[in-house]
Amino acid sequence: MSLQEVSNWGNYPKMEAEVKTFSEVSEAEAYLSGTKVPVIPRGNGRCYGDASLEEHILSTLRYDKLLEFDREQGILECQSGITLDQVLEVVVPSGWFVPVTPGTKFITVGGAIASDVHGKNHHAEGCFADHVLEMDVLTGTGELITCGPSFQQELFEATRGGMGLTGLITRVHFKLKPVRSSYIYQKQIKARNLDEAFDLFQEYKDYTYSVSWIDCFQTGKDLGRSILMVGEHAELEELSASQKRDPLKVHDKRLLTMPVYLPGMALNPLSIRSFNFLYYLKNTKKLQEGTVDYNGFFYPLDAILEWNKMYGRKGFVQYQFVLPMETSRKGLEDILNRINAKGLGSFLAVLKLFGKQDNLISFPMEGYTLALDFPVRDGLFPFLDELDKVVHDLGGRLYLSKDARMSKEAFLQGYPRAEEFIRLVKKYNPQNTYNSIQAKRLGITT
Ligand SMILES: Cc1cc2nc3c(=O)[nH]c(=O)nc-3n(C[C@H](O)[C@H](O)[C@H](O)COP(=O)(O)OP(=O)(O)OC[C@H]3O[C@@H](n4cnc5c(N)ncnc54)[C@H](O)[C@@H]3O)c2cc1C
Repeated sequence: MSLQEVSNWGNYPKMEAEVKTFSEVSEAEAYLSGTKVPVIPRGNGRCYGDASLEEHILSTLRYDKLLEFDREQGILECQSGITLDQVLEVVVPSGWFVPVTPGTKFITVGGAIASDVHGKNHHAEGCFADHVLEMDVLTGTGELITCGPSFQQELFEATRGGMGLTGLITRVHFKLKPVRSSYIYQKQIKARNLDEAFDLFQEYKDYTYSVSWIDCFQTGKDLGRSILMVGEHAELEELSASQKRDPLKVHDKRLLTMPVYLPGMALNPLSIRSFNFLYYLKNTKKLQEGTVDYNGFFYPLDAILEWNKMYGRKGFVQYQFVLPMETSRKGLEDILNRINAKGLGSFLAVLKLFGKQDNLISFPMEGYTLALDFPVRDGLFPFLDELDKVVHDLGGRLYLSKDARMSKEAFLQGYPRAEEFIRLVKKYNPQNTYNSIQAKRLGITT
């Protein structure tokens, strides 16, 4: 097998790796027992940093069959390499939707569980794994174990959000949510500053979906200028005449492909500032509402394939943290001010509300989460180390699925049950059959 250059969505870090695909569990088993070197499961590489990177990669992309779809109960059984995009194509015409989706549909079901992904509905409907009924995991001890929320619970808990370190997730059974249409009735509301942004989140908290886009170049009284987007799956009477003709239409909106890496200079503070300004002005009214298809609401970035290339060849990191409710408002002000003082605005800055969540190693906790993109450049990592301390002092933590550089200390401080997680990784993966660059950096497998 030959080596190939591999990186995840942030294009940082990049490495040479041997990538093995499989279409039967027996093939994966044979590969794992034959190779005496650590291997990491990999879905579609949509995590940003180094979680699914290792010198040997077991890719699930050919292990992607839909096994059974119960159209009455809305229960799907599938192989872990199927993407949410493929799932939506099958389930939407029957009036079902994935229970939780991140901001891209190009992730696999295995990746959704291993990162325990959250969506715009976390405050109402939790993480992806909250909707999993059972799954099979090929552990590092070579056993194929079926686990679920109420049986083999320990393995289930350590695998959801466990970044592939307990084993390879193979077969998955999960619940879908019923919808009357494939459209979302959305409202967009402008907030002049951070106080208004937080007030709006509370005012609209009964909406199933909410997310806010922040212009992080604003300072002083305009700090936190933003647009809150809330939505619900649209009822038939909310659709236009043309939408009513095919209310459960599968939408496929791929408009552009970023053809080449943009030069690092292309995303300079001025271009980002102009983009943010134009985006805010485009929404001229205080409140705009209407019906949009699910791609427009959930996956606006998917419209530009390979948009990650706009950050240049050196790549970028996404810095996503969560703060508890009581420190969110002050913490966000502090962090946005520090970013501004450093002249490091982020092209995308996305704020979400999290509800209660208290799993072993899943990222969310009740509070607010902010995700920011920063092109890799000199001085960035020391600055992010500084932000890590702020996040820690405020009782927050960073998302493993976006991480490419946090320290072992930051990980242990942020995740109060990290030691318990590490013990379970050792139990189910005693020889480090599964390992990753990230797991070694964070001291999980070393
Ligand atoms: C544009 C964009 C928007 C995003 N928005 C969000 C968001 O709103 N919320 C959110 O939570 N995340 C978000 N993400 C992150 C993304 O949802 C997660 O990183 C997800 O895990 C990626 O899935 P993947 O299939 O690409 O897996 P990969 O990126 O390949 O792997 C991610 C992790 O899962 C493990 N893994 C993958 N498959 C398996 C398997 N079968 N068995 C065991 N372990 C496995 C890998 O080892 C790795 O640790 C976003 C990413 C992008 C690019």
